[in-house]
Amino acid sequence: LIELRDVNKYYGQSHVLQDVSLTVHRGEVVVVIGPSGSGKSTLCRTVNRLETVQSGSILLDGEPLPDEGRGLARLRTEVGMVFQSFNLFAHKTVLQNVSLAQIKVRGRKREDADRRSRELLDRVGLAPQADKYPAQLSGGQQQRVAIARALAMDPKALLFDEPTSALDPEMINEVLDVMKQLAESGMTMVVVTHEMGFARSAADRVVFMDGGRIVEDRTPEEFFTAPESERAKDFLSKIL
Ligand code: ATP
Ligand code: MG
Repeated sequence: LIELRDVNKYYGQSHVLQDVSLTVHRGEVVVVIGPSGSGKSTLCRTVNRLETVQSGSILLDGEPLPDEGRGLARLRTEVGMVFQSFNLFAHKTVLQNVSLAQIKVRGRKREDADRRSRELLDRVGLAPQADKYPAQLSGGQQQRVAIARALAMDPKALLFDEPTSALDPEMINEVLDVMKQLAESGMTMVVVTHEMGFARSAADRVVFMDGGRIVEDRTPEEFFTAPESERAKDFLSKIL
């Protein structure tokens, strides 16, 4: 579904993605881990063209990513992204937050959008909060709204960049549970996270990045029981 081939990206002199090749099949859950600055966020951002790359190709469903215009707007609906900061509209209710892009981007009628939003809010356990404002919710609840909002676009894939890093510990699991449920429902997901429990239980593959390169790309069993590279061993010894 998503294919990167020999992707290279520079910020000025610094080579932040080096010959990155990665294929994510439909329905697969790929967890990306690695030290700070290794290029994990940049990798996510290149997949929905928040960043451009200097060489290599990125394909979605076998087609090159569009560079601009309507194609690019469509891409952003097809590949949704959930960030560490939830970026909800503070002056809109939860329901309005989830409905807005459905109306503006997907061209749905408000009625239809709201019906879909309520379904999705129910799915992430927030049906009772539909008419509240973001500031009235906990961080974990706000992140679940952000997930519902991404799902409302009926994306082909979802990218998560450290979705639980800004949350208090007691709220992490409610978000991970929603993500596990999504993974089980067959959603194609790329997840940057330090939550190794999630990686073990939900990932089909673990990708370990270091210095802009993909150093390992293996099943979680293989990766956690017998990492091949010294860099991965060293990383795991620090976080486990
Ligand atoms: P973290 O775990 O801290 O989120 P990361 O693996 O997500 O790290 P990236 O944010 O992808 O790492 O950054 C990769 C490299 O690119 C880093 O060296 C970073 O300093 C650099 N970088 C990221 N964004 C920019 C930018 N807008 N301009 C210049 N350099 C950048
Ligand atoms: Mg990052």
